[in-house]
Amino acid sequence: MLVNLSDICAIAEQNNMAIASFNTPSLEAARAALDAAEETGLPVILSHAEGHDPFAPLDYLGPTLVRLAERSSALVCVHLDHCEHLSYMRRALELGFTGAMFDGSLLPYEENVANSWRAADMCAGFGAGLECELGSMGSREAGARDEGGTAEESGATYTDPDQARDFVNETGLDLLACSFGTVHGIYKGEPHLNFDVLTQIRSRVNVPLVMHGGSGVSDDDYRKAIDAGIRKINYYTYGVKFAGEAVRAMVAEREAASPDAVVYWHDMTTTAYERLLADFTSVIKVFANGSGPLA
Ligand SMILES: [Zn+2]
Repeated sequence: MLVNLSDICAIAEQNNMAIASFNTPSLEAARAALDAAEETGLPVILSHAEGHDPFAPLDYLGPTLVRLAERSSALVCVHLDHCEHLSYMRRALELGFTGAMFDGSLLPYEENVANSWRAADMCAGFGAGLECELGSMGSREAGARDEGGTAEESGATYTDPDQARDFVNETGLDLLACSFGTVHGIYKGEPHLNFDVLTQIRSRVNVPLVMHGGSGVSDDDYRKAIDAGIRKINYYTYGVKFAGEAVRAMVAEREAASPDAVVYWHDMTTTAYERLLADFTSVIKVFANGSGPLA
């Protein structure tokens, strides 16, 4: 069932859990995310990042994701991730997306507020929930800059708790993405999350908080983040990394068995789907923080 971003996060709030938000720029990823949600009975968010448009065009993927969510037995939000252009956001909302993120985190504060306010107005008109970001993770989904490393190396700026309160009041957003030590992409060392920043933000705002750069974080840190108010966790990089490794191992195994082995494209997509399903299922359960089936 297709549900609104705010409603799915309200369920997370009631159950002290976080909803997994998976980027799904392929049919295999979308299928794995939906099957993981249906098998666990837990809600899920299917995310399409504007930066993934070159290899996963919104016009192809958007209608597919919305239709799949509508017919799913799980509670599913179809969400636009890291959108920097309001015209692109309008296209996604017209296709039926039920959530969107406006990312003005690299803009000067006043400009971020002004554009986030316009995005909130647009989302309200479509009955969709809006996520905005304050503070910066430094690197983006699409890898426009170098990904990975420490938060400092990525040019991250922690979200300022007092500014977060003003930002929420001035924009009318529904969810706030915070920067507190996670990075996008592959971590080069142990991630160091600043839960103190998160707790301070939580005490000043009354909207669900979002954690980006969710892959590569320990289960223990996920639990601490959820207990500190994180209700949506974006997860992508490690899932597709594991799927890529599984495909490579499958091809190597076939070639070792026979030098003339033929490997078809659908052999690769099937292997990728199976690996993604295993990973997404385990991630959804960890983020559920002990909650049982909800759908
Ligand atoms: Zn992100």
